[in-house]
Amino acid sequence: MPLIKATHQQTKEHNRNLVLKNIFDREKISRAELSRITRLTRTTVSEIVTDLLDEGLVTEIGVGESIGGKSPILLSLAKDSRCLIGLDIAQNHVRGAVVNLRGEIKKTVTAPVVDRFGEKPLKQIFEILDQLMKSPCRPISGIGIGAPGLINTSEGIVINAVNFDWKDFPLAKILRERYQLPVYIYNDCQAAAMGEYLYGGYHQKGENLVVINVGYGIGSGIIINGKLFQGDDGGAGEIGHVVVVHKEAKPCRCGHYGCLESVASAQAILRDAKELLHFPDRPSLSELSEIAILDEIEKAYIAGHPAIRELILSSARYLGYAIASLVGTLNIHQIVLIGEMTRFGPAWLDVIRDTMLRASLSRLANSTSIEIGKLENNSTLLGAIALLVNNYSLLFMKNSARTML
Ligand SMILES: [Zn+2]
Repeated sequence: MPLIKATHQQTKEHNRNLVLKNIFDREKISRAELSRITRLTRTTVSEIVTDLLDEGLVTEIGVGESIGGKSPILLSLAKDSRCLIGLDIAQNHVRGAVVNLRGEIKKTVTAPVVDRFGEKPLKQIFEILDQLMKSPCRPISGIGIGAPGLINTSEGIVINAVNFDWKDFPLAKILRERYQLPVYIYNDCQAAAMGEYLYGGYHQKGENLVVINVGYGIGSGIIINGKLFQGDDGGAGEIGHVVVVHKEAKPCRCGHYGCLESVASAQAILRDAKELLHFPDRPSLSELSEIAILDEIEKAYIAGHPAIRELILSSARYLGYAIASLVGTLNIHQIVLIGEMTRFGPAWLDVIRDTMLRASLSRLANSTSIEIGKLENNSTLLGAIALLVNNYSLLFMKNSARTML
């Protein structure tokens, strides 16, 4: 009967994914150990491993130590057996990369965002992807995208982009048709969380993680039980637009006043620091790029410029309060900060930690660690890949395009 057949197929896929996940999670592992960890019979594991070897996803890499009897053959992920394309649509640039299954970047293409309106950003995305598709890495199993704003991942729609004038824009469908590959799109901070989790090594420390991107905007991604938590509308972790200033609040790009982003983001620092910095013998700040101005602000901060230090450290206090709310809501021990503002280093981080400790229950706060992420500016890009890798069925040949262009 079809229903029973489907259930059998689902069980088979579930078991296959379970075995593949355990091979993914370790450098090497034997069939016997896989059987012990997954609680599948040795025969089932052997059959699945034979399929994985046939698919080229796994290789045998020699023999392990015997614990009585024959020495076991060790299996390892064939990291270059599939490639994935990751795309980070950031505030000021779009960056794409071809990446292998271990998150090693094979080729990158970056272009500044020149036009935020209409079809032009899309044309730019096509150009980047066209170049990446020419990479010799084969087969390419899918495209993962991280984009700022509200995203409907299941339908592949950008509901509301922050940097482009896209509204309910079916980006995944457009790219799927053009490249004939599976395409998934995620909120950039949510993708970044998955990137730090899988490729920043945090999955070895626990199953839960919060990653807060403190860049030109502010947002976070939440991993619960090893899976990205997106919330009912895909907006879980959107802490940047919670109002934190009530008196003399400044406008935020979302239309409200006094959001966390309006006081603690790099954009807010750029806005306020410009009034504090003067360079009599240098070109005016208005002639410099945002990143060059941030460099100047950082120099002044390191040199001990009192007003600049106060500006940066008071922005850290707002972040500390926001994190205290997360600690009270989620009680997740591991909190990771990424983004442009992490350049302000230990003093900035200490103020965030101290504020969090003072503003949440000591018992919860004391077991919470806040640190800077490990992937620098690759977390969103690798996160988009990590989310693809989590969808193991994508990696099987029958479901993925072997060659393109
Ligand atoms: Zn806002």
